[in-house]
Amino acid sequence: MTRILALGGDGIGPEILDQGLRVLRHIAGIIGLAIDIDHDVLHGASWDMHGTFCTKEVLRKARSSDAVLVGAVGGPQWDDIRVPGGAECQDGLMYLRHHLQSYLGLRPARAWPRLLDRTPFRAGLVAGTDILILREMCGGAMFATERGQRITDGRRQGYDLTAYDEEEVRRFAVGGFEMARRRSGKMVSCDKSNVMESYKLWRAVVSELAADYPDVQFENMLADNCGYQMLMRPRDFDVVLCCNQLGDIFSDVTASHAGSLGMLPSACLMDVPKGHPVKGIYESTSGSAPDIAGKGIANPVGMILSVGMMFEYTLCRPEIHKAIEHAIESALNEGCMTRDVGGRLSSIEMTDAIMQRLSL
Ligand code: NAD
Ligand code: MN
Repeated sequence: MTRILALGGDGIGPEILDQGLRVLRHIAGIIGLAIDIDHDVLHGASWDMHGTFCTKEVLRKARSSDAVLVGAVGGPQWDDIRVPGGAECQDGLMYLRHHLQSYLGLRPARAWPRLLDRTPFRAGLVAGTDILILREMCGGAMFATERGQRITDGRRQGYDLTAYDEEEVRRFAVGGFEMARRRSGKMVSCDKSNVMESYKLWRAVVSELAADYPDVQFENMLADNCGYQMLMRPRDFDVVLCCNQLGDIFSDVTASHAGSLGMLPSACLMDVPKGHPVKGIYESTSGSAPDIAGKGIANPVGMILSVGMMFEYTLCRPEIHKAIEHAIESALNEGCMTRDVGGRLSSIEMTDAIMQRLSL
């Protein structure tokens, strides 16, 4: 029995998660996979119900599940709430990432043939783009242990200490080199080691490790230039290794290659996948999109692709992930699209179109 914890979260989160679960149940029925799906709340929905962003019960259930599926969390009504405790206590999803140590964030973005003219790029420049942003999920400035606001010299000051220790960088970079081996064998690590100590250590650790992967074509790049080059010549990039904050930003940036932020999936894995089942949290890359929540128009593709990633990494069924990608590509090619990419379909209709084209 495969145990799945489903946490809708806030805004469009529950809407897109529902579509991901429809696809999951549909596939489970076809391949005869026994699944047990438990539903609970996270972040804003949890705050309103329990006065905490993530209950101990949700963490307990997450720990005993094979995979956690999350829609998206957040919203203006909760973004400025502060509770006692570290960074992980301020956000339900960060709480789960921290306690599950799901450090390896996979955020793939590809240019879909039918959506090339929905991107801000010339078709000839972006066609064929297939970038995997790897985002470190459990450390760096976002999980600063020294953080806060204080008065310094009579002025208000906000601070978040950026710190990475070598083991945090190493376990993550191993994931990068291994993912590069599974793909085209190319990896760029980005940092600001020209001006920051935490990044000097980052670059040193990743470069040391590169010696163990002579088959991977590896390069260090300064992050600002890397961001520029990913837009100017996106096809030259494959795996891009990023700290937590840069990975957050660069993954949304690469959504421009895919045509919409709603097209991007993500996986936060607790271990490096090497053909054995790895537990993880699977979520859309986007946030809760309060501007379109409740309208039934959110693009479900990112969430459905996240279910595909779950099949590949937690259930070791990469061929099902491929089948989902093919079904999405066929649906798009036949003009089935949600509004964010120029179509008129609702979230439910888009999901129907994908399920109709699934061949397993
Ligand atoms: P957002 O990612 O929610 O939305 C950015 C833009 O992309 C919006 O115009 C939105 O309509 C669009 N968009 C996103 N997903 C879409 C989809 N599936 N279909 C169609 N359009 C889509 O970013 P934001 O507005 O800056 O943040 C909103 C909230 O989300 C904030 O409270 C923030 O804290 C939270 N947030 C959560 C996560 C997460 O759950 N992992 C990530 C980022 C932001
Ligand atoms: Mn983000």
